[in-house]
Amino acid sequence: MVRRNENEVVDAVRYIGTEDKPCPFCGSKQVSIEEWMGITNFVCDECGLIVSFIGKESEEAAIESWNRREL
Ligand SMILES: [Zn+2]
Repeated sequence: MVRRNENEVVDAVRYIGTEDKPCPFCGSKQVSIEEWMGITNFVCDECGLIVSFIGKESEEAAIESWNRREL
C-alpha cells in the first residue's frame, strides 16, 4: 500500500508498460495508472504530472488516449 498523503491511499501501484508512451513533460516511464472514483489517472513519479481524459474513464480507453500522440 502506498500513501502519498493523508487523504489519498492507493492499494497497489501499477506502472505503464514499456510499450506505452512516457510522461509528456519529463520523459519518465515511472508513470502509475491509478483509478480514483471510477476515473483512470496517470501519475508521474518524476515530475508530478496527473492526467485523466474526459469521456475515457475506463483503463483501456484512457491508455489508448495516453498513447495517441507523437511524443
Ligand atoms: Zn513526468
